[in-house]
Amino acid sequence: GAIIGILGGGQLGRMLSVAASRLGFRTHIFEPSAKPPAAHVADQVTTASYEDAEALAAFATSVDVITYEFENIPTSALDLLETLKPIRPGREALRISQDRLTEKTFLQDLGLQTAAFADISDQASLDAALTQIGAPSILKTRRFGYDGKGQARIKTPEDAAEALTAMAGAPSILEGFVNFSHEVSVIAARGVSGEIACFDPGENIHRDGILHTTTVPARLSAGQRMDAVLMAGKILNALEYVGVLGVELFVTPQGLIVNEIAPRVHNSGHWTQNGCAIDQFEQHIRAVAGWSLGDGQRHSDVVMENLIGADMDRVPELAKKADCALHLYGKTEAKPGRKMGHVNRLQKPQT
Ligand code: ATP
Ligand code: MG
Ligand code: MG
Repeated sequence: GAIIGILGGGQLGRMLSVAASRLGFRTHIFEPSAKPPAAHVADQVTTASYEDAEALAAFATSVDVITYEFENIPTSALDLLETLKPIRPGREALRISQDRLTEKTFLQDLGLQTAAFADISDQASLDAALTQIGAPSILKTRRFGYDGKGQARIKTPEDAAEALTAMAGAPSILEGFVNFSHEVSVIAARGVSGEIACFDPGENIHRDGILHTTTVPARLSAGQRMDAVLMAGKILNALEYVGVLGVELFVTPQGLIVNEIAPRVHNSGHWTQNGCAIDQFEQHIRAVAGWSLGDGQRHSDVVMENLIGADMDRVPELAKKADCALHLYGKTEAKPGRKMGHVNRLQKPQT
């Protein structure tokens, strides 16, 4: 069997490894921190920094194809790796999704709707953007933000100076506040031959900036559902993408607005593990290994809930429930805000 190299050993890397081994592949994880969640399930782990050219080269040499579970891989590491083995999804997807400004510009150029946005580098550019976009709005760092980190809400123009201070000089964008009724996401995949498969859109609820639940089916009209899937397909094709992609959308009366894209398996796609015969992790492995894509049809209604920090105390109780499928990441320390696992609660179909 082929060996799949995965950059990043967090829970996504762990669940990718499980899916890969189920298909008879071996996995090799590259991860700077010691004993990451994926280490327990991968066949091989390299603990080294992304600056370590020798370790990177040895990793690439040992695998047949390279994929990743997070988008902030240093450019220098990618430059080296891509001379040795194919990286899937490709560099373009990473380049675009690493930077909110590049990402939003790309989406607009595709004819998709985004929040109004402007590049912010200092007080003057923020003042100018605020007269254009107005308040309420959100200032976000262009790079490295996740789980709502690196963001400051601007309720009134008076909040501007404080918001700018919170960015600590990092290049940022100002986004107009989208008055959405709810949030959904599409987990979509594209294979090496260009075929596309989409999972049913899920409806997402965030708590303290972190995904709390994903519910399928999402509240969407047939037309909105079609739009969501077509938008994801458009993005996949434009990037000549290979693998699974997450697309976060705001639902508004004016249509679906793209919030952001993630070039990897996505937390809001975890429901597929118990709602589909082939889940997002297997779908991703199939795509990067050059297989045909699986059928992502949903067979059950599911509510996925993230287990964060002290939520782990509920595990014994959840383990007794017949409708709950637990997925725990093997992390030892349950810190506040830390994703420790998730539970997929299967809903009985309405009769
Ligand atoms: P993730 O963990 O999903 O990567 P993130 O840190 O990249 O999150 P965003 O997805 O940009 O952050 O924003 C987090 C949440 O904040 C969104 O899901 C949404 O609820 C809210 N939000 C972000 N941007 C806007 C906006 N322009 N208008 C209204 N709400 C927004
Ligand atoms: Mg994000
Ligand atoms: Mg997001």
